[in-house]
Amino acid sequence: MPLLGAIADDFTGATDLATMLVARGFRTVVAVGSEELADDGPAAREVRAADAVVVALKSRTAPADEAVEASLAALRALTDAGCRSFYFKYCSTFDSTPSGNIGPVADALLDALGESATVVVPAFPATGRTVYKARLFVHDELLEESPMRDHPLTPMRDSHVARLLAPQTRRPVRTIGLDTVRAGVEALREALTAPGFTDALTVVDATEDRDLRTISAATASMRLVTGAAGLALGLTGPHEGAARVPAASRAGDPGAVLAGSASAATRAQVAHATGLLPHRKLDLAALRADPAAAVADLVDFARACWHADPERPPLLYAVGSPDDLEHDTPEGAVPAADLVERALADVAVRLVGAGARRLLVAGGETSGAVVTALGARTLAIGAQLAPGVAWARTESGVGGSPDGVDLALKSGNFGGTDIFTSAWDELA
Ligand code: ADP
Repeated sequence: MPLLGAIADDFTGATDLATMLVARGFRTVVAVGSEELADDGPAAREVRAADAVVVALKSRTAPADEAVEASLAALRALTDAGCRSFYFKYCSTFDSTPSGNIGPVADALLDALGESATVVVPAFPATGRTVYKARLFVHDELLEESPMRDHPLTPMRDSHVARLLAPQTRRPVRTIGLDTVRAGVEALREALTAPGFTDALTVVDATEDRDLRTISAATASMRLVTGAAGLALGLTGPHEGAARVPAASRAGDPGAVLAGSASAATRAQVAHATGLLPHRKLDLAALRADPAAAVADLVDFARACWHADPERPPLLYAVGSPDDLEHDTPEGAVPAADLVERALADVAVRLVGAGARRLLVAGGETSGAVVTALGARTLAIGAQLAPGVAWARTESGVGGSPDGVDLALKSGNFGGTDIFTSAWDELA
């Protein structure tokens, strides 16, 4: 029976957290949506055998009420599955808007659990995200000066986490600085139980892994914690060296890179890969004019690439430079973000139908669209590719695959520059 239940607001976040939990000794299963936990199917069986379950939602940019409803359904399903402590996972760049969804979901989860307070810990030093004096840094830059300021869905124009969170929540927002964290577990626990903190959302500074371990230890008795995957560094599961699953695909099986992210790291990965892999950029005008024909064209291109050289998976990408971003949707037209997500999801389904057994997907929303369209119900964590990125294997039968499909769901800003070309070696 699982000990820990996590709710991730996007799919790359779910595999990011699951990868961390596996490394920390939790046999972990990612359930795609909470319905998977309810029935008596293969997902429910896998859940019973797991130490931790991560429910992958696509709620980061949904309307706040929908995000709350989906998160509460996930909480109920996790509780029914036996989980007693909970983790609300969001992005280490605190991707949200003044209306949510981090604050509304945290509030609703606390209310449903009958709890009044929790911590807010977006820091993930291994990926360059640190929080100091409540300000979020992305490597050497403040969040508001990082490329996140121009994210197509959640532009982050402030770096002060408490200031970002305040308009999103009904609770007071407090902060605890690094000096208290460095004073140790007991000092931090005391600070979190001081008057004013017991009914609040408290942003806690952390700039190094040891700070996350301290925060985990100090919050061990909280039924709900919230943060990026880094906070899981301080958790310890019952199965040290929990096995990663072997790949579903074999060397030479067809694959593709599908990149819907516009993030700086993904653009650098695209630039690197276009020198090495056959590639096509999505054509927004063609997609708007005739989506079916544009998708068919991309699929034909990918299949031709497989025949030409099975060792070099094609790259289909949305954004090469910030100039490719469409900021204003033409009157009456489908917004570019939806167009791209739908197109890459359709392409993924068609490619798997045509024999693809390995897909690297770049972008959180994009990954959500792809995994949902493929109809995958569970993901099991395989080889790690970078902090926060791993291969994950679907259950068998997805898209007609006898053994499942290997998916690497990469948050836009994660991964080294060569990940689109090097990732495949890890499936050997
Ligand atoms: P990340 O992990 O980098 O945030 P996401 O996939 O979550 O990546 O978000 C990127 C969003 O940008 C997606 O919704 C995608 O469809 C959208 N997008 C892709 N290309 C364009 C474009 N040319 N103009 C506007 N939005 C785009």
